[in-house]
Amino acid sequence: MYDINILIIRFVLAKIQMKINLAKSAGFCFGVKRALKIAKEIAKSPEQIYMSGDIVHNEKIVKELSRLGIKRIKHLPKKTRGIFLVRAHGEGKKTIERALALGYKVVDATCPMVKEIHRIAKTEEDKKRQVIVIGDRNHDEVLGIIGQLRQEAIVIDPKEKFLKKIKRIKDTPCSVVVQSTQNAEIVERIKSLLHAYIKDLRFFNTICNPTKTKQEEIKTLPKENDLVIVVGSKKSANTKRLYEIASSINKRTYWIENENQIKPYWLKEIDSVGITAGASTPEETIRNVVSCLKSFAKNNLES
Ligand code: SF4
Repeated sequence: MYDINILIIRFVLAKIQMKINLAKSAGFCFGVKRALKIAKEIAKSPEQIYMSGDIVHNEKIVKELSRLGIKRIKHLPKKTRGIFLVRAHGEGKKTIERALALGYKVVDATCPMVKEIHRIAKTEEDKKRQVIVIGDRNHDEVLGIIGQLRQEAIVIDPKEKFLKKIKRIKDTPCSVVVQSTQNAEIVERIKSLLHAYIKDLRFFNTICNPTKTKQEEIKTLPKENDLVIVVGSKKSANTKRLYEIASSINKRTYWIENENQIKPYWLKEIDSVGITAGASTPEETIRNVVSCLKSFAKNNLES
């Protein structure tokens, strides 16, 4: 009888102790939801649908779309026709022009926030200003932005050394746009540096609102929880950013793609777990992670 009572107390304590705090902004942003809605809608068409790369950076979603018949390709086939679906991160102008020239119908699922970056970059180029893009050099979105322009844009990748590049253009009128998912604090530092060197500089902070909200939330989550779990694809730039920010604040931060990657020992002597998820992480994956954590907490207790 005594043992059972202890077990009940331990069970209640564990329930109290192991709090799971899910960030309000975890999961899909509106741009991803919109792109998926468009993709699922056109998947009903009898025509073959092609998509260059991933519609969004999440393997589960890409597989789901492939089951619906949407083909992921590197280059558009010349001998067939169908629909060319433009991913949420956008495409360069040449790719779209090529698709149209080959006779494909183009369905554009580019996020409106990314479209806005394209618009700003093109307008600034028309004003004869050098366009600078702050972003990950090889990311689809950055390639899509520079692919809108006639002249070569300068990419400032925060991971690289770029001071020499800036010094070379100090007398050139420059306009800056930012990849929508960049780290806001790092971008602010680069902005100050650019202002210090370039005399005529226009700066457009094009980090999107969902990214800003997620990054604000991830500043408190690691402080308020013993452990942080960031859920999302290893290909996802915005998930990577969340992980970088969280792990700089709380060393016990783990980046997982799904619930199978959770290790029970992470939860030892943990009172609370904060969870966030990238903009392309499906709700189902987040739910599975939460359920898995709950069941580990319960099993720890019962063992
Ligand atoms: S992260 Fe921002 S820019 Fe990217 S799809 Fe979502 S809302 Fe659009």
